[in-house]
Amino acid sequence: MMKEDLRASVLQRLEHDFNLKHRVGTDYMRGGECPACGKKELYARFDKPWQIRCGRPERCGHIAHVKELYEDLFEDWSKRAPSTDSDPVATARAYLEFSRGLNTGLMTGWYTQENYFNQDLNEASATVRFALPNGGYWERLIDRPSRFGKMKARFKPKYSAQGHWWCPPTVDLATVEELWIVEGIFDAISLSQNNIAAVSAMSSNVYPAHALEELAELRKGNLPRLVWALDNEPTARRYLQRWAKQSREMGFKCVAALIPQRDGRKVDWNDLHQRWQFEEGEKRDQRRKRDLDVARHEGDLLLAASPREKAMLMYTWEDATSEFCLEFGNRMYWARFDLSKLEEEQREILNSDDHDDQLLSERDARRKVLESVCALKLITNCNFEALYKQVNEVTSEAWFYFRVETPSDNAPEKFTFTPKQISSSSEFKARLMYSGATWLGTQKHLDQIIIRQTEGLKSVETIDFIGYSKDHKAYIFNDIAVQSGNVFKANAEDYFDLSKKRVKCLMKTVRMNLSIDAKGYRDDWLPKLWLCFGEKGLVALTYWFGSLFAEQIRAEYESFPFLEMSGEPDSGKTTLIKFIWKLFGRLYEGFDPAKGSTSGRSRAMGQVANLPLVLLEADRNSNADNAKSFEWDEFKDFYGGGLLRTRGIKTNSNDTYEPPFRASIVIAQNAPVVGHEAILSRIAKLYFPKPNITEESRAAADSLVQTEVEDVSHFMVKAMKAEQQVLARFAEVYPKYRAELWASKKLGSDRVIRNHSMLLALVDCLQLVLPLSDRMVSDTRKYILGMAAERQSAITTDPQELNEFWQVYDYLESLSSEPLVNHSKTPGVIAINLNQFAEVAMEHRQRIPDLSVLRRMLKEGRTHKFIDASRPTESAVRANLQMRTPLNPIPQSVRCWVFKA
Ligand SMILES: [Zn+2]
Repeated sequence: MMKEDLRASVLQRLEHDFNLKHRVGTDYMRGGECPACGKKELYARFDKPWQIRCGRPERCGHIAHVKELYEDLFEDWSKRAPSTDSDPVATARAYLEFSRGLNTGLMTGWYTQENYFNQDLNEASATVRFALPNGGYWERLIDRPSRFGKMKARFKPKYSAQGHWWCPPTVDLATVEELWIVEGIFDAISLSQNNIAAVSAMSSNVYPAHALEELAELRKGNLPRLVWALDNEPTARRYLQRWAKQSREMGFKCVAALIPQRDGRKVDWNDLHQRWQFEEGEKRDQRRKRDLDVARHEGDLLLAASPREKAMLMYTWEDATSEFCLEFGNRMYWARFDLSKLEEEQREILNSDDHDDQLLSERDARRKVLESVCALKLITNCNFEALYKQVNEVTSEAWFYFRVETPSDNAPEKFTFTPKQISSSSEFKARLMYSGATWLGTQKHLDQIIIRQTEGLKSVETIDFIGYSKDHKAYIFNDIAVQSGNVFKANAEDYFDLSKKRVKCLMKTVRMNLSIDAKGYRDDWLPKLWLCFGEKGLVALTYWFGSLFAEQIRAEYESFPFLEMSGEPDSGKTTLIKFIWKLFGRLYEGFDPAKGSTSGRSRAMGQVANLPLVLLEADRNSNADNAKSFEWDEFKDFYGGGLLRTRGIKTNSNDTYEPPFRASIVIAQNAPVVGHEAILSRIAKLYFPKPNITEESRAAADSLVQTEVEDVSHFMVKAMKAEQQVLARFAEVYPKYRAELWASKKLGSDRVIRNHSMLLALVDCLQLVLPLSDRMVSDTRKYILGMAAERQSAITTDPQELNEFWQVYDYLESLSSEPLVNHSKTPGVIAINLNQFAEVAMEHRQRIPDLSVLRRMLKEGRTHKFIDASRPTESAVRANLQMRTPLNPIPQSVRCWVFKA
């Protein structure tokens, strides 16, 4: 029943997802599209639809297991096949049959079904349990084991299986001629069900010393041959060599068997067993024999005693060429069989007077001849392998990513080679030196090796920024990525295997330290943040949080606001910014955009996506020249995304590289940002006055300052994992807030309304990942409404300083019928020399704002529209003076700031 149920679901999905159709009258489904090569050659069995295969075994050979394609169908076995009083192992049996392809009819009494309960998580799973020697056991968790992290199976607590193995009850150690030693219990059962006697060592890194001693004792004088058949992984291979040596010392004859691993897919004996099940009868036997022969050959290569022995094995194995490269002990050799000498040598041995030679069998004679015509040359003292091609689609650049291992104990190194560096022997030599290895080969050797290593090499897309990549719909960092709520770790080859795409982040200058593990993360920083910064702290946090979704929000709603954090010195802005960054995995504050060139700024601004760029202003007021080089106007377009300035990067095509702006912008400085409506309306502003510090708030601030990045950076991971929920909530509440703000009729600017509705919506979204109290939420909402009102008035009126300035101007000009500070002779125009203005103001005991502040603000003023900052003006004021002192000539021209009256 259960089986039909599962089969029906699988058939339905295969038909829907791959277009596979049942050919009536056969046991097969055909005509599907192969996900690897795209050809319509995909097929599956209709009666046992547990695999899909490409019908082009030579050219493509794609095989996928349905249990991996549709994990959801194959993971909650307790639900799918509940055990009952009359059938207490129903769940375990279903798992063994459908997830492992084993014939449970041959395994009665080998296992029990148990239950595992995890106290930390308060979660339970059924298990399949196998008894081990000395009262131990091993069990596999079978209900959605991913809930328990890395632990998919476990031994009895406090039990050590060290030195023992698990032997299937059907394997008779007293009589076997050949005994395979594999890692897993399911591997051992799989081989047993294919008439191969196998035991499970339960790990690769422990030598089953005790079990082997017992076997040696039992079989004194008649030892079986051992076949070490551990998983084909680098560390397991090293252990295998050690265990083979050790067991030979015990007197056993040893060989090895290793399953070739292709395309980075892990294939074990249980996988092979399931593949063999796909075929029937003679075909199955052939397939199995072939796979076992290949595995044994791989094993022989691993245990070869010398490079020469390995070369011989390779040459005699199926249509080998007469010249090839081989690796031995992390050195690479060039083997060359001189076939022209072959016949001559053979004749010599056959006709030899040497007694030993005459006794050689034909096979041994041929072997001896081959050995004598094999020339070996060391070509480099390392082992290198091209792992993949890194491509940058935008600049159409490509690099080859290699792993290089040296005979030393150092860990393998991985680095890139340019196409040029792998094309020329001398350039290759220089680049390889990076790992300390020397290339002794010739151009011919290199060409041959590179052809073999790069043909059909997989390629990995790259991004040259860090954060959210629209193209991949994923957050991508150096060591982790998050896509649709799932966290991915970079694999052993340093890239991410996202659904359907391989991708890698090349940006190394932005360091992020994100804790994937929820363990140890607590929200107890929130009350401290609230105590120190109140609504401002939450609004800033909301902005950072919202920035994680800026690209998605801009794509859907066309804009994302900028945030200004300005106010008095020592108001705690720096403490707040640095703390929020810790939640986002960085020890950081921001950078000063006025320092450095435009292109340098562009580069810095292109480094991150869906993270804020915090622009710090180092006291701009005191340096008028500096202010000139940098205008907020430059950023206006980034509100809707926009392009960064062209970079001087040479590309292979003729295109120039104009990366888009993918971040958000926080402006952090003491002075408020002044500017015209177009810039002010894009900014949501937080004003920071000097705080009232209490003992509690100081302690809370100290604790925020001392917080370690790794203790809180899981917050950002949590937020990214909630992407789908956040965007759904945003889509629901943003239009609602926007309509409310419009309806209130207090705000006139569409941008001001959009920006603050977004902040309101994001406060709602923030609650999906952070437990805000009702008071925090209502106070923060009120505060955001206040911010919106402030913005609305800022874009319609002048700042305080300018108002004061024009009030003084009006006062001075009202003192007499003659102009005092307005030099203009033209009606409708005001011309002011600021220094003279200050002097007159002082004479009349009028306070005016600092001149440098005025110089910056006057350009953006609304009371009188700015025309020119340094116009030579025939001064009306000086003309009056000249009339009073005719004998003393005064220059009549003065440089003035000119405004519309
Ligand atoms: Zn294919």
